[in-house]
Amino acid sequence: MRVTLEIAVGKEFDYRVPDAMRDSVEVGSRVKVPFGPRQMMGVVTDVVESSSFKKLKEILSVVGQKSLVTPNVLSLARWMAGYYCCPVETALKSVLPDSVRKEKEGWKERLFVRALAQTGEAPELSKRQSELWRVIEEWREIPLQELLREMNTTADTIRRLEDKGLVTITSEVMERDPFANETILPTKKIVLNEGQQVALDRITSACDDPEESKRVFLLHGVTGSGKTEVYLQAIEHTLKQGKGAIVLVPEISLTPQTVERFKARFSDGPLRTLVAVLHSHLSAGEKHDEWHKIRQGRARIVIGARSAVFAPVDPLGLVIVDEEHEYSYKQEESPRYHARDVGIVRAQREGAVVVLGTATPAMETYYNALRGKYELLDMPTRVDTKTLPLVRVVDMRMEARKEKGVPIFSLKLKEGILARLEKGEQVMLFLNRRGYSASLQCPLCGFVAGCPNCSVSLTYHRKVKQLRCHICGHSEGVPNACPEESCRSPQIRYAGIGTERVEETLGKLFPKARVTRMDSDTLKKKEDFRRILSEFRLGKIDILLGTQMIAKGLHFPNVTLVGIIYADLSLHIPDFRAGERTFQLLTQVAGRAGRGDVEGEVFVQSFTPFHPAIQYARRHDYVGFYEQEVEFRQELGYPPIMRMCGLTLRGRNEDRTRMAAEYVMKEIETKITDLKGLSISGPAEATLLRAENFFRYQVVLRSNQMAALGQRLTRLFASIELPDEVQLIIDIDPANL
Ligand code: ADP
Ligand code: ZN
Ligand code: ZN
Repeated sequence: MRVTLEIAVGKEFDYRVPDAMRDSVEVGSRVKVPFGPRQMMGVVTDVVESSSFKKLKEILSVVGQKSLVTPNVLSLARWMAGYYCCPVETALKSVLPDSVRKEKEGWKERLFVRALAQTGEAPELSKRQSELWRVIEEWREIPLQELLREMNTTADTIRRLEDKGLVTITSEVMERDPFANETILPTKKIVLNEGQQVALDRITSACDDPEESKRVFLLHGVTGSGKTEVYLQAIEHTLKQGKGAIVLVPEISLTPQTVERFKARFSDGPLRTLVAVLHSHLSAGEKHDEWHKIRQGRARIVIGARSAVFAPVDPLGLVIVDEEHEYSYKQEESPRYHARDVGIVRAQREGAVVVLGTATPAMETYYNALRGKYELLDMPTRVDTKTLPLVRVVDMRMEARKEKGVPIFSLKLKEGILARLEKGEQVMLFLNRRGYSASLQCPLCGFVAGCPNCSVSLTYHRKVKQLRCHICGHSEGVPNACPEESCRSPQIRYAGIGTERVEETLGKLFPKARVTRMDSDTLKKKEDFRRILSEFRLGKIDILLGTQMIAKGLHFPNVTLVGIIYADLSLHIPDFRAGERTFQLLTQVAGRAGRGDVEGEVFVQSFTPFHPAIQYARRHDYVGFYEQEVEFRQELGYPPIMRMCGLTLRGRNEDRTRMAAEYVMKEIETKITDLKGLSISGPAEATLLRAENFFRYQVVLRSNQMAALGQRLTRLFASIELPDEVQLIIDIDPANL
């Protein structure tokens, strides 16, 4: 029998199964095994009758009851290890939440008092006892703690009732429900409009027909076109077939609002089922309980972030990936998987249908749809004839000429906000940089305050009076004068704006408005996010200002104006996807406006107002954007035309790291010669050469046979040695370069 161990050793080991355990060991079981002088936890990855090794050690014990990993998910983990070039145990680790794997948090138990049916003569009771008994009899069952509190009594008193045969006290599992305090009103399905109905019909007929060749749909619908309603009715169909569904949403939009829409639809009626939620903000205990609800088949709909793609839904009928273009679906540590792509592979293996939904498909996805790999479903209009908001691009170069220096708010935006506030409507403002100002600079000598550990400048945070690094978290005090020995100028000043500064300016411009800032500096507690959003929904906030956190998936009908303070920020990131990211961001942010009865408007402030990403977003023209962007990718041989693999060498010593990168490049050039069209470039300094005191060099590979390339790389790197302290990171289909 073969076992994969917890520790990352990159190998599987064979163990013998003692006869007594034969029946309880299966693929996916967790076992304790001897390993050298120690004992370790492992997961059984295979059951084989014979082994090429003669002397095998025995498994010590089986931990837990039922095997935790379903064979389907296990085989998915193996595929993932192969494709993303990582050890099987690393892949296995990510398919099971920690809290389930370690089983530290078991079920939470609670004592219940239950009235027993009485036959024959009633036992003799004191006055107090009969009083208690009457209460318990009325409740039939009640948690012990609650009873003690309500009746102001002791456990001993209740035990005496137990002795007399009136009640039993039993320990029962109590599920932690992350939504216990919410009241959710059930919703009924909405009559679909034509576009929605056509889309739904295609999806459900693919679900019904096992021969259907195209099982992946791209649901390209503008913001507010009613994609969620299509998901809900597709899920309903899946439940009727007796199957389950996984709904992936980006972590950032996994708001209570989103989850509620799903819970509300399936909390009632004949298809009533539990909706389980999986994301990183759940406590370990909550995660454990949600996961087991799914494993036991009680919850057949899972809604969650990236890792929910591994939820043990069985049988699986439908995988929905909402906002499929979001790059947070890509995990930035090993295994570096993309949840959308893993979702597609999983669905294909388990005969499920996939729906990728978005207003701004990833270039890769639209490319696949145009080439017939996926089926395209278009929903180009908002429901109920609501129009898409009018987008005005404000040329900030002109504004800068009008006033002295660059204002944070253009005149048009200022007037726009004022008009909306006067009508009692709400405003959302967006700037993708937290802190007060981007950097601290000296105008005389050019000094810029930088992080000692990373190659980035420090951001000024005014409230805490600190300079902070947004990469490694380093913080330091603010100097009064330029720290350069030869300069010492007191004129040192702040450049570039952050949300903290915008908040301050808003206070001055609109003293009566209630302004709330939402970014990772203001959200300290788990509850903050939810609280602020519900205050906003209740109209207790006039202007909500935030980073990309507020860009996605939120639906507030009273928001009629959206302002993007500095749209160029994402255009300047040194990545070939900068234009695509900007287009997506602008479209998403703009989509927050005018979702109610009043038409919405959007102001985009920019210094490069004629950039295609901004102009196509202004016209809500995705296809136009795609067509010019794909041309640019074609010229340079970037994805989606070619696939990419990034190799990063990371080490504390710069020379050794660079030399290792050169060596790796040579090895690939000389040893991987059988792949047609493989292109190798580098080694080059990573965009952030230094991060957290590590130097980083990159080699970029481009190919159209990624699976084959991955295999070659794994084999190659198993056979070569890198210098000590230099680490190699393989990133297949990287989201960032
Ligand atoms: P998207 O996910 O495409 O941005 P939503 O699914 O959030 O859009 O839909 C926007 C709003 O329109 C929601 O309040 C939803 O309940 C409503 N809606 C959806 N479909 C219909 C329909 N066919 N008729 C009326 N209202 C609808
Ligand atoms: Zn200076
Ligand atoms: Zn740093």
